[in-house]
Amino acid sequence: SLPVVAIVGRPNVGKSTIFNRLAGQRIAIIEDQPGITRDRIYSRSEWNGREFHLIDTGGLEFGKQDEILTHIKNQVELALEEADVILFMVDGRDGVTASDQEVAKMLYRTNKPVMVGVNKLDHPKQLDLSYDFYQLGFTEIFALSSLHGTGTGDLLDAIVERF
Ligand code: GDP
Ligand code: MG
Repeated sequence: SLPVVAIVGRPNVGKSTIFNRLAGQRIAIIEDQPGITRDRIYSRSEWNGREFHLIDTGGLEFGKQDEILTHIKNQVELALEEADVILFMVDGRDGVTASDQEVAKMLYRTNKPVMVGVNKLDHPKQLDLSYDFYQLGFTEIFALSSLHGTGTGDLLDAIVERF
């Protein structure tokens, strides 16, 4: 089976925007485990001849409890289990937030390769905003504008290197 890249992060950082930018053809979701709702969105993608599956997930929120948030968290846990590489999206203009730190803690426990996509850096002058995110403890940090498509080539090179 193909390697899997899971896109995770708090709400509104651009997970779905990067997913749509990197996505090739959307694939059907086959329910292969009874009792588990597999409503994560999958796509089949390719970079430099390397094929992989991408999973988009819902936004992780902490400190609140309701049925939808619990469901999203379960879906993210399933995506993380499936993942060979994790793409952790953050909003570069906001700097590191408490929610980003909560997501990071969840990701440390996976022991899987994590790429941090520092998104919404639409202008060259904003690129050094990405350095703040080294404090999250991951070494692979990529400045991105999912809106303009900048930075995605370096990110994809690093992702496929980890398969
Ligand atoms: P998600 O909740 O993490 O899936 O975030 P979305 O992909 O839905 O994006 C949230 C908002 O951020 C939308 O209004 C996007 O258009 C916007 N957005 C996403 N990527 C960028 C970016 O690179 N630059 C800017 N300026 N806005 C972005
Ligand atoms: Mg989304």
